[in-house]
Amino acid sequence: MKKLDTVVDEKISIGISGCCYGSKVRYNNKGWDFLEFLGREKGDYIWHPVCPECMAGLGVPRNSIRIAGGTGDTVWSGEGKVMQQGKGDVTEGLKQGSLACMETLKRGETEVFIYMDGSPSCGVYRTNLKKQKRGNPPGVFGSLLLEQGYFLIPALEMQSPIKWWDWRRRMLAFVWLKKQEIETAEDIYAVWHVLKFLCQEIDNEKSREIGRRIASGQFEDIASEAESFRAEILEMLRKPSTVNKIKQSLWKNYTYYKKHMGLEVEEIMEPTDLRNMTTIASELVLMERKSFEEGFSFGTSPVIYRDRRRR
Ligand code: SF4
Repeated sequence: MKKLDTVVDEKISIGISGCCYGSKVRYNNKGWDFLEFLGREKGDYIWHPVCPECMAGLGVPRNSIRIAGGTGDTVWSGEGKVMQQGKGDVTEGLKQGSLACMETLKRGETEVFIYMDGSPSCGVYRTNLKKQKRGNPPGVFGSLLLEQGYFLIPALEMQSPIKWWDWRRRMLAFVWLKKQEIETAEDIYAVWHVLKFLCQEIDNEKSREIGRRIASGQFEDIASEAESFRAEILEMLRKPSTVNKIKQSLWKNYTYYKKHMGLEVEEIMEPTDLRNMTTIASELVLMERKSFEEGFSFGTSPVIYRDRRRR
């Protein structure tokens, strides 16, 4: 089978809500530095902070805004409005600010965005904070991000080492898959061979269906089959896994590694061993490193990032 290079050695460009990057751009002149949770890893990416409300010319500090009459989607379709206390209708400004941010993200060649949920602008699945209802999701900029097919990571999940680890491995697989040339049946088999363990962990039923289709080898129109295969897997990679599934997967892949490489990694614990999330995340990072060094394909994290100098 065709062997694909699964190491990403170019820094990934990531868009991020400005207030999560440490910029004090929120309506109340505050912000959060979520990157501090990544430690040295933050240097592995190129960051593109944007703030649609600042780009709308609403300034800092400002009165908060809310979506009146629907969601961010209905604002774009012309049925909903964005209202600001004391100022009234700011719909047009927020649309222009959101489009300007999107242009910036496109110029930066981003496909990933870390968003602040709960905002009527950047929120994707929530547009309210502390029970203050500010319209229904998605937010106005969130709606654009969804429409453009971004890989969307909630900023709050960066605080948990295991959740961030799960987002990172799926993000790497997502960015890698977008770049793969899939033109022949052989390309489909090769890509599936790389991603199938991760897909099975995320959604076993869907993966079985894809696996059966590929195994049948009956591709009527290879170009449309390849694109729907890519789209289905990109969609699957957006879904988070669970800690239990991650632990099972780590153990399964580790036992395979032990058997085939004849090597033991004493820090790796069994799924039933009690340990905290930080320890599990360290075991996963250790297995990623060991697998890379030994040239072993670790199905749990099929695509990894290595700086060119460390390859
Ligand atoms: S959530 Fe978005 S619009 Fe609101 S302050 Fe943060 S970056 Fe700006």
